[in-house]
Amino acid sequence: MTVAAVIVAGGSGLRAGGETPKQYQTIGGRPVLWWTLKAFAEHPGIARVQTVIGEGHEAMFAAATEGLTVEPAVTGGATRQDSCRAGLEAVARHQPEKVLIHDAARPFASRDLISHVIAWLDRHRAVVPGLPVAETLKLAPGGIVTATVDRSGLWTAQTPQGFGFEAILTAHRAAHAAGVTNLTDDAAVAERLGIEIAMIPGRVENRKLTTAEDIETADRAMMAARLDHLPDIRVGQGIDVHPFAEGNGVTLCGVSIPHDRSLAGHSDADVAMHALTDAIFGAIGDGDIGVHFPPTDRRWKGAASAIFLAKAVELVHRRSGLIANADLTILAEAPRIAPHIAAMKAVLAPLLGIAAERIAIKATTAEKLGAIGRGEGIVAFATAMVRLP
Ligand code: MG
Repeated sequence: MTVAAVIVAGGSGLRAGGETPKQYQTIGGRPVLWWTLKAFAEHPGIARVQTVIGEGHEAMFAAATEGLTVEPAVTGGATRQDSCRAGLEAVARHQPEKVLIHDAARPFASRDLISHVIAWLDRHRAVVPGLPVAETLKLAPGGIVTATVDRSGLWTAQTPQGFGFEAILTAHRAAHAAGVTNLTDDAAVAERLGIEIAMIPGRVENRKLTTAEDIETADRAMMAARLDHLPDIRVGQGIDVHPFAEGNGVTLCGVSIPHDRSLAGHSDADVAMHALTDAIFGAIGDGDIGVHFPPTDRRWKGAASAIFLAKAVELVHRRSGLIANADLTILAEAPRIAPHIAAMKAVLAPLLGIAAERIAIKATTAEKLGAIGRGEGIVAFATAMVRLP
């Protein structure tokens, strides 16, 4: 018996805020999708894991599969239902007997829940985990209550939903052929063909991460558990200065910002990322950027400064440590930095292995005082907190 898993990660997921779709935001040091894929990739009952991703998400997907054995992703369609069908068509050539379809935004599906869904598929062609509705339901069109709905027999549906593979593939093809494109789960697709669906108990912890608050709450809980084992609290500081030279833009925290000048320097002159890198080297008492990447070394000419930051983070991880948070202040008369802060955090979060919410980037001017005030360059100050065993 072979069971495949299709993980639906096609959404742009911007309801959770930020520049990065929610399934690629960081919780517990990894993208949400990494945790989701891990649950299925490491389950002994699952033969292969097929992910459906959004257009242009290839690089984020690659980062979200580090160390995991999963199939190459396929690109989804305009709706969740379209994406699901794309995933099912992709695994069809392997002729699995059964399939579990799961939302990327549910990273806490336990091994036990996955096993249960598979086991129930021995007796039913379709299985949906869910929770009985516990709260009182009101019908309130336009914000005014018109009725109290009888909640007996009502369940909220979770994923993974399990199906006989041929049954759900046929149902998806039939819905598509009929022009039905907006069903919000696969059980609804199966219902159209009158397939009997068993409702089984889901898990409270198997919640869907929808809002920015959901993601922060999940990250805090996971990070707190990890930080508990890291009692040695270190703080590091970093400062960097680069002068302006001729050019048409600057790179700050990996983000290109158009400007009538560029920063001069041996690498890409990302003054902000350099300050942050030095703060991390400082926290672990291990030299600075100049020691690890001598400016006399030709290899670093024009180099992307992400290489330097990645090295500092790697040294923390090699000591079995974690970065807890980082705070960065950029001092410049121009260009305007505020509009780019969300994009900068989206670059830094995966590099640091922490959620964007743990990163602060602030910008200020020098009120026209001194060299920075005369617009001769940019200064960046950074503080990083590192936790070690
Ligand atoms: Mg520098």
